[in-house]
Amino acid sequence: AKQNGGSQYCFYTEEMDQHITRKLQLENGLRKAVEQEGIDVYYQPQLDVFSGKIIGFEALARWNHPDLGFISPDEFIPLAEETKLIVPLGEKILLEACRQFRQWMDEGHDLERISVNLSAIQFMDPTIISTVESVLRQTEVAPEHLEIELTESIVQDSVQALPVMHRMKKMGIQLALDDFGTGFSSLSYLKDFPLDTLKVDRSFIQTIHENEKDRAVVDTVIQLADRLGLSVIAEGVETEAQLDYLRSRGCVEYQGYFFSKPLSKTEASALLTRSMAM
Ligand code: C2E
Ligand code: CA
Ligand code: CA
Ligand code: CA
Repeated sequence: AKQNGGSQYCFYTEEMDQHITRKLQLENGLRKAVEQEGIDVYYQPQLDVFSGKIIGFEALARWNHPDLGFISPDEFIPLAEETKLIVPLGEKILLEACRQFRQWMDEGHDLERISVNLSAIQFMDPTIISTVESVLRQTEVAPEHLEIELTESIVQDSVQALPVMHRMKKMGIQLALDDFGTGFSSLSYLKDFPLDTLKVDRSFIQTIHENEKDRAVVDTVIQLADRLGLSVIAEGVETEAQLDYLRSRGCVEYQGYFFSKPLSKTEASALLTRSMAM
């Protein structure tokens, strides 16, 4: 919101009113959207930096509100968390993403993974393990192909999170730490937590060519992952120069607008078919 000084009290009340109205409208809409399959899953390709091959996709939620239009996940995911709607919504997204992955594999595409974001609320929900087991069983996706993306907010509550992470690990699921480098927690969890992958946050990638310090962070994360025996993927790669830099540093995987924005399932299928013909 714009700062207009402190004098316009009415302006602020009105703005606050509008804010609350929108929130209520979104909350109701969200409940309906979750019930009526109104939220779509989009897929952003993840690629091998060196071969250019598509290795998998990250599933990202998309919501087109009937009256308000496109709502960013940065707005509706926190709302879904607040209202606990994230639990049924997240389950639907996981099921849909795994179904789609199964279909691509059945069509002969050779993919390594489908990545799905889990919020802290979902992760701490007592039903999470049985939900994931059930989805994998229903869709016949091998657990090794499912990667769960977690943020540091989950990892921080380690007393609760650690047993869940270990159970997932035991099932054979891959665990990735999302937005790596943006949190404030200590690095010590990296050695205690059963992670497979670090995901370098896009804020560091975006200024690689302007900012020596961001280069230092990116280099360090790549080296750290290597030393800890973890994979590393860079997100938010928008330019060829950024990709070249990652290649020069031995970063093996990336995703970002440079290759593709998140795609509808139809667009993603067409992309796979085209890349198979090449
Ligand atoms: P995230 O998990 O860090 O996802 C990456 C975000 O970066 C996505 O935004 C993606 O569209 C965007 N992105 C990808 N490549 C580029 C690029 O080259 N440049 C730029 N500027 N952006 C790029 P999106 O889809 O708007 O999602 C925002 C956040 O909402 C996600 O951040 C994630 O935290 C959350 N989210 C989205 N879908 C889900 C979901 O199904 N479950 C949960 N729990 N959270 C989700
Ligand atoms: Ca993510
Ligand atoms: Ca991220
Ligand atoms: Ca993020």
